[in-house]
Amino acid sequence: MESRDYDLIIVGGGITGAAVLYAVSAYTNISRVLLIEKYEDIATLNSNSRSNSQTLHFGDVETNYTLKKATEAKMEANRVLRYIHLLEKGEQARIISKCQKMVLGVGDEEVESLEKTYYSGIKRIFPGLKKVEREGLSGIEPNTVRGRPAEERIVALVSDSGYMVDFERLARSFVSRALRNKKARINLMFNTAVKSLREVRKEYVLTTTKGEFRTKFVVFATGSYSLLFAKMLDFDKNLSIISIGGDYFISKRMLNGKVYRVQKGGVPFAAVHADPDIRNPDITRYGPTATMPLRLEKRGSTFFDYLRSFNYDIKTLETLVKVVSNEDIIRILETNFVYGLPLIGKRWFFENEARKIVPTIKYEQLYHERGMGGIRPQIVDENTESFFVGASKLYDNNAIFNITPSPGASSSLESGIEDMKYIARALGLRIDHKKFEAELGIG
Ligand SMILES: Cc1cc2nc3c(=O)[nH]c(=O)nc-3n(C[C@H](O)[C@H](O)[C@H](O)COP(=O)(O)OP(=O)(O)OC[C@H]3O[C@@H](n4cnc5c(N)ncnc54)[C@H](O)[C@@H]3O)c2cc1C
Repeated sequence: MESRDYDLIIVGGGITGAAVLYAVSAYTNISRVLLIEKYEDIATLNSNSRSNSQTLHFGDVETNYTLKKATEAKMEANRVLRYIHLLEKGEQARIISKCQKMVLGVGDEEVESLEKTYYSGIKRIFPGLKKVEREGLSGIEPNTVRGRPAEERIVALVSDSGYMVDFERLARSFVSRALRNKKARINLMFNTAVKSLREVRKEYVLTTTKGEFRTKFVVFATGSYSLLFAKMLDFDKNLSIISIGGDYFISKRMLNGKVYRVQKGGVPFAAVHADPDIRNPDITRYGPTATMPLRLEKRGSTFFDYLRSFNYDIKTLETLVKVVSNEDIIRILETNFVYGLPLIGKRWFFENEARKIVPTIKYEQLYHERGMGGIRPQIVDENTESFFVGASKLYDNNAIFNITPSPGASSSLESGIEDMKYIARALGLRIDHKKFEAELGIG
């Protein structure tokens, strides 16, 4: 019988949990680590290659980011690129592929807003970003221009340094490199769900579907569920979650690279964009939509857990009403609700989204690919009465709870490193700084 006592237990085998496992195993002298995952494998939910947009987000084509957020995103994405360089060429090619990317502005308002973005500092952070007008676009991404009325203004900010990433394979790579550490005992347990946790004499006892485990430190990397576990310790920092579902439509391949759209600041989830699929070079994916499913995850039945994720008080109610009554968010949610409806959904998506990117696409060429997509845990912060952009971490003494909306896969390695440093301090572990700097340092 395996031991039930650990220095560190990581709950959740998506890319966030996998990255913590890698960072701790590769760069500290930890002795006993266990990763617990409720499903049968690594990365079956949001980190799965069919669940997300496969974009390594740098912050250059994401017009809803502030300059500060873009600077952070660039550093986080560069960390992933550093990791990729550690792998042999064949594995690199299975995980990542370089491509062109752009943000496309259509019509006077979007064109002016993009031009303002370009001159307001984003070019300083991303010197490789180029402003490209209609004529230039017809050379590099012809299907965004073909068939578009001559009087419709368009402009794009374009970069050659876009990346499609198979985050599922990246997560698996993190785990397999973690298992190379033969000095530590690193165990993986699948098909095992953590049901509850409690603190007992400065340690945590986790009750799972396969009995109890004890640990000095615990990291929750369970997406939306991390907030529910934090609440078990009466520790939630006034946060709630609204689930934002995202589906994709597909067509035969029509674009060379990633085409993002201009979106408003303050709206945390990405506007519909179109891009190639790293596993299937023959298609273009359009999405994700933004719906409000009454569940926390796309697998299993999670409705009652969703209800449990809210605080039932006046402040929470006021905050939720405030965030969802924002004009832009209401408009996005209303139109996206229609995209999910049978019969008319595809027609609306075709008119409002797909044709804005590829004007000549035909209705019959578009399919709603219902198996693709996932559910983003959109964090609502009662302190600021707003949506929180990006991932969130809650710290108890010897516990970390990671809640990871988009672009959580791009920031996963940086998040894992941050957790590793915190865990090392809490458990008195030694970090091998020399190895870390040589392998993942970004100067
Ligand atoms: C439509 C969509 C598009 C996106 N596009 C991008 C993108 O282009 N780029 C980007 O960087 N990010 C993107 N994201 C976000 C990204 O996919 C997530 O931030 C990331 O995958 C989160 O990883 P995770 O490991 O935290 O969560 P998950 O991958 O969801 O993993 C959580 C794991 O915890 C396990 N778990 C849950 N509860 C328990 C329990 N009680 N016991 C044991 N295990 C448990 C689950 O089974 C699961 O395996 C997108 C997300 C969506 C939904």
